[in-house]
Amino acid sequence: MLIAVRTAPHHSWCNPAERIMSVINYGLQGVAIKREQMPEEYEDEFETLKTLEDIQGKAKENPCLKSELEKCIVTVQKLFCERTEHLVWKNEAFETENPASNLEIDEMFKNILRIVSTLTKDETTQQQLRKHKPLVEFIKTHCQERAYSFQIKKCNQPSCEVCYPIRMPIDVFQNLYFLPDPVPSRDNPDRYETFANLYGKFTTEKFRPSLINLNSKAELAPSNILISAKIRGYKIELKLTEQEKQDLESALQTYTYSCGSPIFPDDHSLAQKVFVRVQISCDSPIELLYYTSKKAGNIPICYWCGANNDVVTVPQNLQENFKLVYPLCSSCNENGKTFYKRLENKVNSRKKQKVNHVD
Ligand SMILES: [Zn+2]
Ligand SMILES: [Zn+2]
Ligand SMILES: [Zn+2]
Repeated sequence: MLIAVRTAPHHSWCNPAERIMSVINYGLQGVAIKREQMPEEYEDEFETLKTLEDIQGKAKENPCLKSELEKCIVTVQKLFCERTEHLVWKNEAFETENPASNLEIDEMFKNILRIVSTLTKDETTQQQLRKHKPLVEFIKTHCQERAYSFQIKKCNQPSCEVCYPIRMPIDVFQNLYFLPDPVPSRDNPDRYETFANLYGKFTTEKFRPSLINLNSKAELAPSNILISAKIRGYKIELKLTEQEKQDLESALQTYTYSCGSPIFPDDHSLAQKVFVRVQISCDSPIELLYYTSKKAGNIPICYWCGANNDVVTVPQNLQENFKLVYPLCSSCNENGKTFYKRLENKVNSRKKQKVNHVD
């Protein structure tokens, strides 16, 4: 059996801090990191690369750059490991592991090829994987997929061509279940049910905090309010005096802001004037301010999840009919999301009305 869990991917500021995440964040509080310098020629080359994809692409082409990059972050990785290993969760210290080596990835991939021999290592998106029918079937019958976890369990069916026979005693195997989803306790909904009470029971993701937030988002805002808790570094246009604006600026720099919490201590002079919309979590759609503020570095990101890769091309008819069509990534698209759009072109709608009159 294999259980893999991950933290929130992509841009961390637009993803939820759920459960374990906040514990790990303690380890990083007040930590400044700086990587080592690379030899100048590599620094110059690195300077021109903007996104993670650019960096990965270039590193593939240039093995020297790749190894220099790996070397220059070793001290940072060590620091993260040390800080994380200081943390304790329910009396157990955190452990850290080294990233998988290419050799280990190849080994793992050999096993995947037993399921579907036509898969290649660079097919990594859901869209690409879904084209491989045997893989889809295997995931359906052997795996449990969640936003933050992925689990595989041998089926122990003699007819299965993928699974090797089990090696553990059969009674142990029969009592081995997938890791359950978090479910609120029946006695106290503010707490989660204990693992022991849930283990082996059928659970779903419906209590995932970010999913619940998605379904309950309707909060009225006072007029004098900071609407974007999600986006830092946007232009603040508030009805504030110059002095208040300066106070706000310095407060934003002084206090560490984390998702869902107020910006100021309660006794701060601006505490009653500037609010955070607490209903906006890191998993809410991207605030429209992100797209309207012309800040350099605001790359197109998916309106729903914040992903910046695999953006779907906007269909011609939407482009013609709406002034604003927000980016959509292919995985949100597959999950049933559609393009979020605003400001229908008046010219077109009037034409349509006229046509209707003629009819
Ligand atoms: Zn099997
Ligand atoms: Zn956040
Ligand atoms: Zn998306």
